Amino acid sequence: MCDLLSGWTTFGIGGRARRIEIARTRDELIGLSAEAIVLGRGSNILASDDGYDGIVAINRYERIERDGNTVTAGSGVRLGALCAFLAENGLSGLEWACGIPGSVGGAVRMNAGAFGGEISDRLSYAYVVRDGAEKRFACDELGFGYRNSALDDGDVVTDVTFELDSATPSAVRALGAEYADKRRATQPTGKSAGSVFKNPRGVSVGRIFDEAGLKGLRRGGAEISPKHANIIVNTGGATACDVCKLIAVMKDVLREKNVAAHEEIIYLGDFGG
Ligand SMILES: Cc1cc2nc3c(=O)[nH]c(=O)nc-3n(C[C@H](O)[C@H](O)[C@H](O)COP(=O)(O)OP(=O)(O)OC[C@H]3O[C@@H](n4cnc5c(N)ncnc54)[C@H](O)[C@@H]3O)c2cc1C
Repeated sequence: MCDLLSGWTTFGIGGRARRIEIARTRDELIGLSAEAIVLGRGSNILASDDGYDGIVAINRYERIERDGNTVTAGSGVRLGALCAFLAENGLSGLEWACGIPGSVGGAVRMNAGAFGGEISDRLSYAYVVRDGAEKRFACDELGFGYRNSALDDGDVVTDVTFELDSATPSAVRALGAEYADKRRATQPTGKSAGSVFKNPRGVSVGRIFDEAGLKGLRRGGAEISPKHANIIVNTGGATACDVCKLIAVMKDVLREKNVAAHEEIIYLGDFGG
């Protein structure tokens, strides 16, 4: 098995982890060492070139069950697979997630969202391993905010229960396809971790970077996407160091504009402070 984090992140960047484990069942997730960091699809991660001196658990616990309009998904289910299941079953409410390359567990931790929707809008319960025991948390106990939750590195989401609306399969499919088309029109398809920075309320940091002329700026193999100025793409052979150089330029631009810089991407490993 590949122990390079570049093989487990959508950026395709990152050195070796001390150990990588795959968790395929709920019991395997519950039994993970408290030390382990859980990754879903690694689509929100910038991993250090020096790797990570710890255990990384890759979540492949994938099962979906339906009971009327209630759907429970294993946290390792890809959002794309969940959207396909919901379309097949005529269940509406998470179409915005079509095209986000993450897992259910990662989406809950990040409170992923797009096109005005967020995962927390439809979440009834999440089952979370905390301090060695699995507990059920209702939505309002999870501290959801914009691209944020009260879950921390020690918490492991196992199963998530969503409440959806009834619709026809064709209507669900059509709305999902519409969002996926919008995404393709405005975002790059290369290797990335999605948006680098969060948007402070009422501010588009992408527009600020665009106006500052950052689109197309390169450091090594990393490039600020010519299509979307808040996304950095690994055009081939980019290192985490290359990405960090671009992030530093972006931070300078935000500082000049007095806009708070809060990364949406999560750093894994040592970045020298
Ligand atoms: C092309 C592209 C487009 C994107 N578009 C969007 C978008 O529109 N909206 C959006 O919100 N995000 C977007 N993202 C970012 C990312 O896909 C989401 O944040 C996604 O939900 C992360 O899921 P993941 O499984 O990849 O999480 P990972 O990147 O693997 O992990 C992210 C964080 O969640 C934690 N985590 C993962 N699984 C679990 C679990 N089971 N239990 C506890 N913690 C866990 C990890 O430890 C880490 O802290 C995009 C990314 C890419 C590459």
